[in-house]
Amino acid sequence: MQLAELRAEVVRYAKKMYDSQLVQATQGNLSARDPESGLICITPSGADYQLLTAEDIVVVDEYGNVAEGKWKPSVETPLHTLVLRKRNDINCVMHNHSPYATAFGVVYQPIPMILMESALALGGEVPIAPYLISGTPEFAEIVCETLGNRPAVLWGNHGVMVVGATLTQTFSIAHALEDSAKVYAIAKQLGTPIVLPPDEVERLHKFWVNQYGQKALTQ
Ligand SMILES: [Zn+2]
Repeated sequence: MQLAELRAEVVRYAKKMYDSQLVQATQGNLSARDPESGLICITPSGADYQLLTAEDIVVVDEYGNVAEGKWKPSVETPLHTLVLRKRNDINCVMHNHSPYATAFGVVYQPIPMILMESALALGGEVPIAPYLISGTPEFAEIVCETLGNRPAVLWGNHGVMVVGATLTQTFSIAHALEDSAKVYAIAKQLGTPIVLPPDEVERLHKFWVNQYGQKALTQ
């Protein structure tokens, strides 16, 4: 089996994504690129996270051609491979439906930087890609363009996508995104949330990028 270790890591983080309720049922998808070979390990279409094993993970090349695997790769494979081809600074792509962050993509409001954690991991307001049926090349283009060099993008009327250098980092960004959205929604009911000043957000994010060895993530 090719890339056995990376496949096992993708399974571990896909289960963590499911266990921490970033997705329900068979929603979402996760990929990780092997920097040496450039091959990408991606969750299969309609993955049952509780039953998922390393053998179920599909290995594809940078254009989504299946190199090894017994299932069809995720329907979002064209988007994952496009983002990975365009971004040398990241190796992992996660799409999930975390509810508070997704809600911002329903009212088309960028998630503001209100927590130190948001500033560290996200480095600025999270943009929103317009609604389109997902899984098509057109959708992949528009999401990739809206993401730019950032770590996260909301999909209008659908969910979220985050990217990172490692699976650990990608998982942290996914939670920073959901926490920021959730705390903002709660804070708004209590009073007027105070947004962190942009220069402080930039300072914190630069520190985080240096800490994790990630290249420019903000535009
Ligand atoms: Zn989705």
